[in-house]
Amino acid sequence: MEAEKSASDTITFLGTGGARIMVATQILASGGMWLNLSGTEILVDPGPGCIVQSTKRKLRAEKLSAIILSHRHLDHSGDINVMTEAMTQGGLKHRGRLFLPADALENEPVIFSYLRNYLEGVEILEEGKTYSTGEVSFTTPVRHIHPVETYGMLFKTKKHRFSYITDTRYFDALTKSYGGELLILNVVFSEPRPQIDHLSVPDAKRLISELKPKAAILTHFGMSMWRARPWELAEKLSRETGVRVISARDGMRFDLSQLNG
Ligand SMILES: [Zn+2]
Repeated sequence: MEAEKSASDTITFLGTGGARIMVATQILASGGMWLNLSGTEILVDPGPGCIVQSTKRKLRAEKLSAIILSHRHLDHSGDINVMTEAMTQGGLKHRGRLFLPADALENEPVIFSYLRNYLEGVEILEEGKTYSTGEVSFTTPVRHIHPVETYGMLFKTKKHRFSYITDTRYFDALTKSYGGELLILNVVFSEPRPQIDHLSVPDAKRLISELKPKAAILTHFGMSMWRARPWELAEKLSRETGVRVISARDGMRFDLSQLNG
């Protein structure tokens, strides 16, 4: 039973809030996503509160193989130092890898220099490259349109392929770059706000319709999204696209085996 359990692919949402006001108020948490992919544990975008949200759920940082940062904005990187320290057991263990865009290490690096020495490796994310950690590989297919260097990820495990489209303005290449059975989308706005480089619900609809995953999960909600009741918007998107669309909840664990068959 235990072997079967560790062989499943799960995604735990340690937070579903995004952007400044949501992070400042913590109406929704902002801890990122904890992936357990056939036993390889990976933390993506450890925003403020990640250490609290993960320990509360008995997720253990010393089991992480890697931390991946899509971009340096605070709502994604706020807890990267404490999570790195936890992953390396305070530096007692030389272990774990950190993946991040080059500009997250330039000028004001998001990670303290003393922590870098604790890690097994630091790898720089670049457009079109593929990386691996444990049993998992992931590609960063395209640089997003966002104020800082930003990459989403297309993950490949033994059993599944799924995409994480992190913060970005909508652009057509997104539909050619991502794929898989599951699409996770950071949807900050309910209505389009063309002056700001974030996805809105109509953008999500376009991406889901084009990419046709088996399921899509909306997350990283700003205040407008929250006020518009994301679960209702998800239901509407399901009807409109014919794809099962779910709005993530803080602490939700999604098992990818639901998508089999
Ligand atoms: Zn951002």
